[in-house]
Amino acid sequence: MPASLKPRRAKKKSPAERLLAWWDIHRRDLPWRAARGEAADPYAVWLSEILLQQTTVAAATPYFHRFMARWPRVTDLAAAPIEEIMQAFAGLGYYSRARNLHACAREIVRRGGVFPQDEASLRKLPGIGAYTSAAIAAIAFNAKASPVDGNIARIIARLRALPRPIAEAKSEITAIAAGLTPADRLGDFAQAMMDLGATICTPRSPNCGACPLQADCAAFAGGEPEAFPRKAVKAARPLRKGVAFFLRDADNRILMRTRPPKGLLGGTVELPGSAWSTDFDLAGAVVHAPCRAEWRLLPGAVEQVFTHFALQLAIYSGRTRDSAAEGGCYWVAEADLGKLALSGVMAKAVAHALRHEKNEPGSSLPTIAGEGRANTRRHAPSAKTRSA
Ligand code: SF4
Repeated sequence: MPASLKPRRAKKKSPAERLLAWWDIHRRDLPWRAARGEAADPYAVWLSEILLQQTTVAAATPYFHRFMARWPRVTDLAAAPIEEIMQAFAGLGYYSRARNLHACAREIVRRGGVFPQDEASLRKLPGIGAYTSAAIAAIAFNAKASPVDGNIARIIARLRALPRPIAEAKSEITAIAAGLTPADRLGDFAQAMMDLGATICTPRSPNCGACPLQADCAAFAGGEPEAFPRKAVKAARPLRKGVAFFLRDADNRILMRTRPPKGLLGGTVELPGSAWSTDFDLAGAVVHAPCRAEWRLLPGAVEQVFTHFALQLAIYSGRTRDSAAEGGCYWVAEADLGKLALSGVMAKAVAHALRHEKNEPGSSLPTIAGEGRANTRRHAPSAKTRSA
């Protein structure tokens, strides 16, 4: 038979082609994404990637809408006071990200308001690490880059049935991701991988029946997709304890202070209290009180899990007629609490105290004088009395 009459075999599609074909139908509509056929807005892409660090799409979305409504361009964000950005960021955790967001916006404005387009240049900007620079380069500029976040690492660990946990196979995963990345539609491919991880190849119960990469997947072929990625042996999380003091003055204001700009929860607003440690002793806790008052230990404790430790915080409540504020503290009207950059744990601590006041209204009556010593910790340079 002449060669021209032989039946032509259809060219086998690559995993990237099959993934992109799936994505063209099933892509998620996200507020920071460009509509089909439209160019991405680098500011929206950058902002969304920063807000999404360490959190979910559902948690980051309202923040994204608020930021875009208030600061629609990078120049607006750069011109905003850092306090306003911190306050708008409150509840997302990792407050160094808010400071870096501001610093990065200023740097972009200094460069004429234009984001660099390649991964290496993006990575030099404040708050932009390996994943974020690759994601922005690919999504905003269709540049050659292969972002690998937790979702994408999980997909790759399953595709190759990697025997080692993700943390031990990072460079291998990065190389595999680069090998899967096509020559064009780079931004679409990155977003398709993200969407596959979020909707199909989920941590538990991956929907392999609907997966465009099923034919390439070693974990599926082995019959145990959930067994990947292999789990790392977790170190036990130490329990730290501490105390915070909820103090009202004669005008019903609440005493607060601001943490130093660097370090854990840097720059956030908190109730005055002790440092947090594994050997904290509640018996002598009032030594950390911001002033003398008749302190009352509230039932229960506030709990929070951080990356490297768990925290249990006892809360004392008290009242004073003395409106002097020392140790970097300041008074805040209760109605203004929502305007503060309270960390998640401090929002819980304030809510805990307010709940007890509401349930036990008698306890909020003045109880002046009693035990407690002035706290000598200084968290902020200003000792001014102020209202937020
Ligand atoms: S086949 Fe299943 S385990 Fe493999 S990539 Fe697809 S969803 Fe994930």
